[in-house]
Amino acid sequence: MNIKTKLILGIGMLAGMIILLVTLSVVNLQILTATEPDSPAAMPGLERALLWISITGGICILTGLCLLYWLPRSISKPIKDLKQGILEIANHNYEERLEMNNNQEFREVAESFNRMAERLTEYRASTLADILSAKKFIEAIVNSIDDPIIGLNIDRQILFINDEALSVLNLKREYVIRQSAEELSLKNDLLRRLIRELVIPGDQKEPLKIYADDKESYFKASYIPIINTEAEQDEPCKLGDVILLKNITEFKELDSAKTTFISTISHELKTPIAAIMMSLQLLEDKRVGVLNDEQEQLSKSIKENSERLLNITGELLNMTQVEAGKLQMIPKITKPIELIEYAIKANQVQADKFNIQIEVEYPEEKIEKLFVDSEKIAWVLTNLLSNAIRYSKENGRVIIGAKQEVDIIELYVQDFGKGIDPRYHKSIFDRYFRVPGTKVQGSGLGLSISRDFVEAHGGTLTVESELGKGSRFVMRLKA
Ligand code: ADP
Repeated sequence: MNIKTKLILGIGMLAGMIILLVTLSVVNLQILTATEPDSPAAMPGLERALLWISITGGICILTGLCLLYWLPRSISKPIKDLKQGILEIANHNYEERLEMNNNQEFREVAESFNRMAERLTEYRASTLADILSAKKFIEAIVNSIDDPIIGLNIDRQILFINDEALSVLNLKREYVIRQSAEELSLKNDLLRRLIRELVIPGDQKEPLKIYADDKESYFKASYIPIINTEAEQDEPCKLGDVILLKNITEFKELDSAKTTFISTISHELKTPIAAIMMSLQLLEDKRVGVLNDEQEQLSKSIKENSERLLNITGELLNMTQVEAGKLQMIPKITKPIELIEYAIKANQVQADKFNIQIEVEYPEEKIEKLFVDSEKIAWVLTNLLSNAIRYSKENGRVIIGAKQEVDIIELYVQDFGKGIDPRYHKSIFDRYFRVPGTKVQGSGLGLSISRDFVEAHGGTLTVESELGKGSRFVMRLKA
């Protein structure tokens, strides 16, 4: 029954009752006016009429009350059910269905609602299946990666980890997924080292030495931040991090083979070079015989090249020492001026050759002594001064000096040569790096070894340089 029928029926019934009531009242009034009110003949009719009026009146009141209760309820109940159904759908309860079979208009609404809920259920089932299959697919990809990989959310909980990572970290999958990596790292040294890099970026420079594949292996950790670039917010937000461990054992082994090879060759070269130098010295001795001008030129050239060769083998030997971690320090108390004098003496011939003036800046007031491996620091200073001379124009000048600031002693070498493009200020300290276009001969090793030597003393070696104006290399060491 629809609402309109209900209303017509209800109002019709009520109107019929009222009409009946009015008719009975009129009939009763006619009886009263047609007969003597006090006559005994009128009494039974009057009583009957009153009885009927009361019965009809009672039925009228009852019908009215029923209609008052039933009519609004029959309209508001389906609306209430519909509202509840919509709320359930809004709360993702797509199982909700409406039953309104005895209400024609609302039956249609309920049918539409139920159809919509069914579609939503189907849709949810299909998207859930899609998401699950996508998740499985991603898990399969992660597991098929040979390198250990760990995915963390923004709260550093482990979202995914592949079998390689589980084996390297000695963990079990069921105990790590959705667990806080920080809490797990309390009982796992390796995980702690990996997480530390996320907390203090730049902290981990050395490769990680891990026992894997039945041997000591080396891993380099890469940290990839996961950024949601499709976020609705203006700024892309970070969702977490992926830690990828790259097995570099093979490269390490090759590198150490290379270091051993260079070290052996450099050692082996030293003896014949020393023999050449010795023979040259003998050649220069007048007692052996007098050389003509041409021969003298040739012997000078052999000497220069042998010295270069000796320098390079020295540099290579130093480098292999650093790379093999065999750098031995023999520190002793040293006056900075002694180091400066040593460097000047070692470079004087070269400076004279290019007519370069070496100026010394040493303060009057006392500079404290250094506690360093004087041979190594003297080597660094000699190398810096040699660079300053080599990369200066002829007839130029270079400054070598020292100063003290609180407990830090600065040893510096300044030239007014071609300078270094700021783009290369970092790279010049890398192994074998030479500024593109450098014509002066060299190995590209001096500065990298120098920095290693200074850092091994807990000091720093930096450069300030401007193209066309010159360079200033500063070594800072604790007094
Ligand atoms: P090498 O001088 O043997 O090439 P270094 O490691 O000492 O190796 O220097 C690396 C590079 O840095 C050099 O090749 C050169 O291009 C640049 N460089 C170093 N010192 C200076 C300097 N004083 N002035 C200009 N360029 C320099």
